[in-house]
Amino acid sequence: MEQGNVTFKCPACGKEEIIRSKHDRQIAAPYKCSKCGFEGPN
Ligand SMILES: [Zn+2]
Repeated sequence: MEQGNVTFKCPACGKEEIIRSKHDRQIAAPYKCSKCGFEGPN
């Protein structure tokens, strides 16, 4: 795995594993859970 990446389960449903790279966080790229439609980051 590339250093700086983080993976976590969707905080809303816990079913979707979300992968965010350091770059995604730096630009605050949004993500959306495909299972429940939760949108982040938050
Ligand atoms: Zn979800």
